[in-house]
Amino acid sequence: MTHSTYQQKKQDLSTQLRHSTKAVRLEKATSNLFRTRGTAGVSKLDVGCLNQVLAVDTENQVVEVEGMATYERLADACLQQHCMPLVVPQLKSITIGGAVSGIGIESSSFRHGLPHESVSSMDILLADGEVVTCTPENEYSDLFFGIPNSYGTLGYILKLSARTMPVKPFVELRHFRYTDIDDYFYAVNEASKSDVDFIDGSIFNERELYLTLARFTDTAPYTSDYTWLKMFFRSIRERSEDYLSVHDYIWRWDTDWFWCSKNLYVQNLPMRLILGRRLLNSISYQKVMRWNNRVGLTAFINNLLDRHPEGVVQDVDIPIEKAPDFLRFFVEEIGIRPVWMCPIGGHDPTRRYPLYPLHGDGLFINFGFWDIVPNPDKHESGYFNRKIEAKVSQLGGVKSLYSDAYYDEDKFWQLYDGDQYFELKQKYDPQGRLKNLYQKCVLKQ
Ligand SMILES: Cc1cc2nc3c(=O)[nH]c(=O)nc-3n(C[C@H](O)[C@H](O)[C@H](O)COP(=O)(O)OP(=O)(O)OC[C@H]3O[C@@H](n4cnc5c(N)ncnc54)[C@H](O)[C@@H]3O)c2cc1C
Repeated sequence: MTHSTYQQKKQDLSTQLRHSTKAVRLEKATSNLFRTRGTAGVSKLDVGCLNQVLAVDTENQVVEVEGMATYERLADACLQQHCMPLVVPQLKSITIGGAVSGIGIESSSFRHGLPHESVSSMDILLADGEVVTCTPENEYSDLFFGIPNSYGTLGYILKLSARTMPVKPFVELRHFRYTDIDDYFYAVNEASKSDVDFIDGSIFNERELYLTLARFTDTAPYTSDYTWLKMFFRSIRERSEDYLSVHDYIWRWDTDWFWCSKNLYVQNLPMRLILGRRLLNSISYQKVMRWNNRVGLTAFINNLLDRHPEGVVQDVDIPIEKAPDFLRFFVEEIGIRPVWMCPIGGHDPTRRYPLYPLHGDGLFINFGFWDIVPNPDKHESGYFNRKIEAKVSQLGGVKSLYSDAYYDEDKFWQLYDGDQYFELKQKYDPQGRLKNLYQKCVLKQ
């Protein structure tokens, strides 16, 4: 795919926007959003064609890529050249534009931060159809730093340059079990100062916490396969050492959507034999989930049985010194298990992203939890999610906005730097053609 083709696509989208007067919404084949919004009165901007990797430059370890390219495509193109983006989110259909304007994370984040922290320039399509190139140093640097966690409310990322790193063919994994929460986070902190390449963890309960340390290697005595009959998350409890090809390491969580494939009843042998490798992946599960939301099957059954479960699908980032407090609260008051754990570090102190403020130089710990909490006492809607929001704020953490949020408006803008946000909004979308972040993420407009 040549550069001029990108220029053409950019021109087409720009023209479409200039000639439309309605509110705008992105149209693309896949999504990892967990909140649904209405579509009335909205004109859809079909950006699906902006999905190409334009150049992989191994000499300078930089990739140039269109905003809607999925990480599956991007990782494939990079691996062919023996490199990978510094942080590759775990789900194949996440796009680089989605991970930068939303927030992404992976086990290399303890060293390289979040995906937006390895971006060096972006082309942004503004609401009036103008396209600007922003970098940390140029006249649009405020937009460059404002885009992460803006979820398409300041403009759309059409193209980016991002850093890559060289890879070796295999990854060696070691799973360490801990039975005490404080010991566990002490070990996470120590590991983050070591020379491993990847750190993440799976917490099955408060006495069974696993830390997985992994490193690139040129050779492997064997490689495991978790793309069909065996499940990666189960292997963590069953073995202390493992080897995967670098490709299978990157996508180790995709086959079973971490462990969430259980809600689709595919964690048994007959179903796995029937479905085969092709259908066991996060893209299939997203499709089933969206269909279920559309037809309301689960909601209908719950109504019939007078059940009131609450979906708690969230990622939160907590300063490491408060991580044990958060986990104890979570175990006692929410109870979802397993929980995914991933340290975040490597921040460049000269770069500040106002809409996703991870303050301080120390490590943050990402906790990911995605399940249904039974609600036999019929608490108000969002009861458990609100508790989590309050605890995250109390501990000085930040919550991702890809799923439901319940903050009142004042609190929301206090947490996500409303002053800075409205300055950016005034400058880059003065007519308010794109919804603002609160309208989009909390009010679901
Ligand atoms: C169950 C679950 C698990 C998750 N797990 C992980 C994980 O393990 N690791 C991880 O890194 N992330 C994870 N995420 C978060 C995910 O990375 C973000 O939701 C991300 O925004 C999804 O990107 P997408 O390409 O699918 O974008 P979409 O879901 O299509 O869109 C997300 C939002 O970003 C906006 N957007 C999309 N593309 C662009 C663009 N080019 N320019 C501007 N705005 C844009 C959209 O308007 C929308 O508001 C998870 C999310 C869920 C729901």
